[in-house]
Amino acid sequence: MTDARERAPIRAADIKELNERLVLGMVFRTSHASQSEVALASGLKAPTVFRIFGELERKGLIAPVVDPPPFAPDRKGRRPTWYATVPGAYRVVGLDFRAGAASVVVEDFSSEILYAEERPIPYGADADEAYRVVSTLAADALMRAPGGPLLGIGIGAPGVVDLAKGAVLEYKRIPGLSGFPLAGRLEERFATTVRMGNNATVAALAAYRYGKECGADGISPESAPGHGQSNSFFALLVRSGVGGAFIRSGVPYENSGKTAIEIGHVIMDPSGPECACGGFGCLEAYLSEDALVEAAFHGSTTQSTGSAGGFEELGRLLGDGDATVETALEPAAKQASVALHSIRHLLDPDEFIVISRSAPLSTYLATATGKYLAAHPRPDGSSPRVRGYLWDPILAGRAACDMVFDGFFV
Ligand SMILES: [Zn+2]
Repeated sequence: MTDARERAPIRAADIKELNERLVLGMVFRTSHASQSEVALASGLKAPTVFRIFGELERKGLIAPVVDPPPFAPDRKGRRPTWYATVPGAYRVVGLDFRAGAASVVVEDFSSEILYAEERPIPYGADADEAYRVVSTLAADALMRAPGGPLLGIGIGAPGVVDLAKGAVLEYKRIPGLSGFPLAGRLEERFATTVRMGNNATVAALAAYRYGKECGADGISPESAPGHGQSNSFFALLVRSGVGGAFIRSGVPYENSGKTAIEIGHVIMDPSGPECACGGFGCLEAYLSEDALVEAAFHGSTTQSTGSAGGFEELGRLLGDGDATVETALEPAAKQASVALHSIRHLLDPDEFIVISRSAPLSTYLATATGKYLAAHPRPDGSSPRVRGYLWDPILAGRAACDMVFDGFFV
C-alpha cells in the first residue's frame, strides 16, 4: 500500500519533521507513553525527545494523560508523565468496496471508531455510480461524525490495484472501474491524501490485527496462537469475487507497486465454467458467493438461488450442519483445497486463513481445505494450519484507516 501522491525526496530540513512523526507514532501506538520510554525505544537523545514532546503538545497533537495508569516509576524512580494522542486532533476515513456494497469507518486520532456504515452499490452499477456511492458515503460519514481535520482516506478496492497510481487496473464486476482514477478523484474531492490497497489485503490485515476467528475443526479460537506468532500467512477471501493476499512479517506482498496474488483467477480447469473475468474455469467460477449458492441450491424447488437471501440461507444451513448442503459444496471445497495446495508449493506460508461473510462457511472451507493439506503434507510430514475468519465491514474499515496511520507515522 503506497501513498497515491508522489513523495518528494527527503531533505535535511525534513529530518526534524520525521523525528516528530516517529515520536508521535510511538505515543499513538501505545495508549500512553512517557518521554523516557520514547527515548529508550527510539534511540533519540533525551533533550531531543523533550523538545519534540513540547512541540507536539503545543500543536495539540499529544496531551498528558489525565487518569494515569497505576504507578510504574521510571529508571530514576520518579513518577513519569504519561502522554497520549489527542483524540480530536484528526479524523481518518477507512473505506472498502466491491460489487454490491461499500463500507466506511471514521476514526479519531486515538483510533476510536466515531462512525461506521455499510451501504449497497446497486446491481449493475458502473464505475461512476460506484464512485458516487463510495464518495457520498465518506462525505456523509464525515458530516455525521464531526471532529478534527481529515488526516487521510484509506480505501480497499477490488481487483488488481496500482498502488502508486491509486487506480484499479482490472476488475470486471463493475464496468469502467478498470483504469478509473479512484484515489485521484477522492483526493480532489476531500483535499487529502488517499492510500489504496486491494480489499483482499485489507481483509487479511483486518483479520491479522483485529481478527474474529471462527475456528476450524478441532481447533478452538482460544487455544490457537495468534497470527502475530506466525511469520507468514496466506489469506483467501471469498465474497462476490475471490481474492488472495500473502502477508509476510506483517507486510503484504506486492510487485512493482501493484497488488498480485489474484488467486481467484488461477485456472483450475481451462474447460470449466465461465468466470466474470471472461476466462474459463477460474477458482472464482467455483468459489464466489453466487457460485456457492448455485452449487448448494441448484435444482432445488424450496430454496432461492443467486440472491443475498440465498447466501444467508447457505450460511444458516451450514451452521445447522445440513449434510445435503455440505455434500453439495464438496466440489467447490475441493477446488479451494487444490488451489491452496498449489499456493503451499509456491509460497509455503506458515498458515492459511479463509475469510468470508459467513462464519459457518469460513469454518466449513477452513476445515475442508485443512484436511486436504494434512493429507498432502510437506516433505517433513507437516502441513500448514487453516483457520476460518468472519469478514466484517467494521474491521475492514479499521484496517483501511490503518493504511493512513501507517503511512503518516514513520
Ligand atoms: Zn477469472
